[in-house]
Amino acid sequence: MNGQNRKIAIFPGSFDPITLGHLDIITRGVELFDELIVAVGHNPDKTPLLPLDERMAIIRQTVEHVPNVRVESFEGLTVDFAQKVGATAILRGIRNSSDLQFEFQTALTNRAVAGVETVFIMTSPQYAFTSSSLIRQIAIMGGDISSLVPPQVIGHIKAAAELREKIDHNMIEPKE
Ligand code: ADP
Repeated sequence: MNGQNRKIAIFPGSFDPITLGHLDIITRGVELFDELIVAVGHNPDKTPLLPLDERMAIIRQTVEHVPNVRVESFEGLTVDFAQKVGATAILRGIRNSSDLQFEFQTALTNRAVAGVETVFIMTSPQYAFTSSSLIRQIAIMGGDISSLVPPQVIGHIKAAAELREKIDHNMIEPKE
């Protein structure tokens, strides 16, 4: 197949951290396209638990066994990144009706402003309650996240959660 006919999709998100729910969408989603780019968002206005380069490294380790998936970062509008990499679609996962409500509006807007289509995949039922924010909370409180994330995440998130705890309790200064 020549380059022009390749169907590329991006799967944008914060992935702070990547979860088994994300991995499920990646492995099922890539089957629909020739290539899937996991697009890790960099939002300068937000402080993630895991820095961007660490999130990307973890995702790369997690998906290294999945063919036709690559990992890139982006800043700014998702549709601009989609157009830059020649993607025909944005892939998103849906867990529940509140995801749907938000995603519906975003998808209509992205199509209206940039002509980019969005493809939705419904979560697998066992991941319907899995979210990065829940995992961050559990990790910060010292709980067990091993059933919710790929094994590659665990060491990183524990170290980051301990660091955050120390910063929150003024035991150390945050890095600039
Ligand atoms: P964002 O901040 O853009 O929502 P996330 O990293 O939280 O970024 O999620 C990226 C994508 O993965 C979104 O489409 C989200 O709905 C989807 N997603 C997150 N968790 C799950 C899950 N457990 N099952 C299916 N899709 C999920």
